[in-house]
Amino acid sequence: MTNLPDFRYVRPTSVDDAVKALAAPGALPIAGATDLLPNLRRGLKQPEALVDLTAIGGLAMLEETAEGWLIGAGLPLAALADHPSLSRHLPVLAEAARAVAGPTHRAAGTVGGNLCQDTRCIFYNQSEWWRSGNGYCLKYQGDRCHVAPKTSRCFATYRGDLAPALLVLGAEAELASAGGRRNLPLAQLFQDDGAAHLTLAPGEILVAVKVPRNDRLVAGYAKLRVRDSIDFPLVGVAAALERDGDRLVRLRLAITGTNSAPLAVSTEGLEGEAWDEKTAKALADRLNKTAKLQNTTTIGMKYRRRVLLAAARRLIDGLWEQGKAP
Ligand code: FAD
Ligand code: SF4
Repeated sequence: MTNLPDFRYVRPTSVDDAVKALAAPGALPIAGATDLLPNLRRGLKQPEALVDLTAIGGLAMLEETAEGWLIGAGLPLAALADHPSLSRHLPVLAEAARAVAGPTHRAAGTVGGNLCQDTRCIFYNQSEWWRSGNGYCLKYQGDRCHVAPKTSRCFATYRGDLAPALLVLGAEAELASAGGRRNLPLAQLFQDDGAAHLTLAPGEILVAVKVPRNDRLVAGYAKLRVRDSIDFPLVGVAAALERDGDRLVRLRLAITGTNSAPLAVSTEGLEGEAWDEKTAKALADRLNKTAKLQNTTTIGMKYRRRVLLAAARRLIDGLWEQGKAP
């Protein structure tokens, strides 16, 4: 770890003031700091200014409306994990929030920081002297990828736990910048490029996520990690389904820890079918094709792929049983 670089620090109290400050070149938002601070201490970013979002009134809200839930980007993960109504209606979100890191990270870490966290790679999340000894890499300061040397893109992996749970719930993102506000389906906040995995415009921040109400969906999250007490997902899978007798009325699946973005797996044509061996095989084929695992961690790709497939199958088998009419 190196000393922090010099930067200006501002702590605005409104979204308008925050996005004005973020319009300056080299300004970065910071929330709970549990992802950004270690990266700064590794010399992975050199911001001109840090715009601390934690004093903005209303950014840590969690509102229940007739349509669903409005979750502020500044809401600490611990508050998301422990919210009584959310735990009852959207247990998958509380489950995913509880799976993030350790208790102190969840006390400080926020929903916005979790969704917008940087991608990770064994060649990137290293100290300055380690990376310089390796000639850096093309995600930062270098010109080649050590994971896939024949390619010109970065495959650093997205390892956020909340995103897949929010994707299967059909969440929307509300963004703000000096140019105004806009909404987009959460999936469109991400793109599969390890060096540029967020589609946020320069100076734009996530303000909230909207989760629609759907009390007929049953959903869950499964995660593989090295240390259960505190670790990023090696792979994570969220699923949601609605069952009517022997038919899947709705089926959604999303993954993390596999690609440079959290991704929804296509279930087109599988809705309306029974959850049987044939449907399970068709879904496993799609999952296999969507997950582009790379050697960005110390745990082998083949093992992670096998666990991903097994975890998805086990998760959906459980939800299928849970979705039975009483
Ligand atoms: P910050 O560090 O403040 O910010 C993270 C990034 O998001 C920064 O680039 C920042 O500029 C940007 N950002 C923050 N807020 C916004 C916003 N509103 N709009 C736009 N950009 C924003 N994460 C997991 O998901 N699962 C884990 O298991 C996990 N394990 C961890 C283990 C350790 C040991 C550590 C150090 C971290 C771990 N993390 C894990 C990462 C991190 O702790 C969490 O993702 C946390 O939720 C990040 O939130 P934060 O508020 O601290 O983000
Ligand atoms: Fe660097 Fe390649 Fe790893 Fe990206 S995937 S961080 S370019 S080594």
